[in-house]
Amino acid sequence: MSRIVVAADFGGTNLRSALVDANGEIVDRLDVRTPASAAPAVILSDIVKLFRAISARSPVPPVGAALGVPGLIDADAGKVIIAPNVAGFRNLVLTEPIAAELGIPVFIENDASAAALGEHRFGAGRGTRNLLHATLGTGIGGGIVVEGRLYRGAKGLAGEIGHIIIDPAGPRCNCGSRGCLESMVSGVAFAERARRIIASGASPVLLEIVGYREPTAADLHAAAKAGDRQCEAEIRHGGHLLGLGLGSLVNVLNPEAITLSGGLLAMGDMLLAPMKESMFSIAYGPASGTLVRLSTLGDEAGLLGAAAVAFERVESVAPQA
Ligand SMILES: [Zn+2]
Repeated sequence: MSRIVVAADFGGTNLRSALVDANGEIVDRLDVRTPASAAPAVILSDIVKLFRAISARSPVPPVGAALGVPGLIDADAGKVIIAPNVAGFRNLVLTEPIAAELGIPVFIENDASAAALGEHRFGAGRGTRNLLHATLGTGIGGGIVVEGRLYRGAKGLAGEIGHIIIDPAGPRCNCGSRGCLESMVSGVAFAERARRIIASGASPVLLEIVGYREPTAADLHAAAKAGDRQCEAEIRHGGHLLGLGLGSLVNVLNPEAITLSGGLLAMGDMLLAPMKESMFSIAYGPASGTLVRLSTLGDEAGLLGAAAVAFERVESVAPQA
């Protein structure tokens, strides 16, 4: 029987958990609503209850557990520094109290870093030694795998690829800087472009799609597909900028592959073709051979990412014979 870990993915709505084996097969799963209370004691006891319930269904005792959290994480200290979308997740030490209750090692990781490790171990990055993963969604996240291991940096904050500067005169980013990749190409950034196009009166097509609600990146794409040239140009320009960001990273890291996940992939080649073009146009020397692959983990990326973190951490102290 293969080793099994408990994996969990902490979102703003649901806390999803699963038993995952060493091949990345989900053996069983259990989801609950994210605790509504922001009290640390309630959050901890809800996680412990869920982990106990899912562990009890495991055919063999789980060897470890890991939790992916969207936010700034001090992975080595097992601490959430801040997770803006989850109430109560601020300067919260999670791993020690949960491990003490469960009697197995417990780890946490930033969800995008976990996703990188998940792609490397179980998904589109299998077989690579060095991998850059980018999550293209509401924001832009990333993770870096170097020589088969997650690169965490000095304080576990590595991989914040959304905050490399693309245009110093660009829009203000949540982080305080101007012109970060995330402030120019992301679900939020595309929605903002759509809002401006509507306000300018330039696109009756987009206005008809959106009506009186707030526009989204998907609306911009729908208008572009319906033939609106300006909306299409915005997406293509976004792809071009994304390629500049990723191409710069490729020049620094020389990964064998870049893996991509996230909702913006629904824009398809309208985003990805200009992205690849600008990426390879600036890739220096050997970096031009980097493969671009789409995530194969789909909806399970969060759980399989957390599982990969648990396996990596457990194996680093007790390698499987
Ligand atoms: Zn930023």
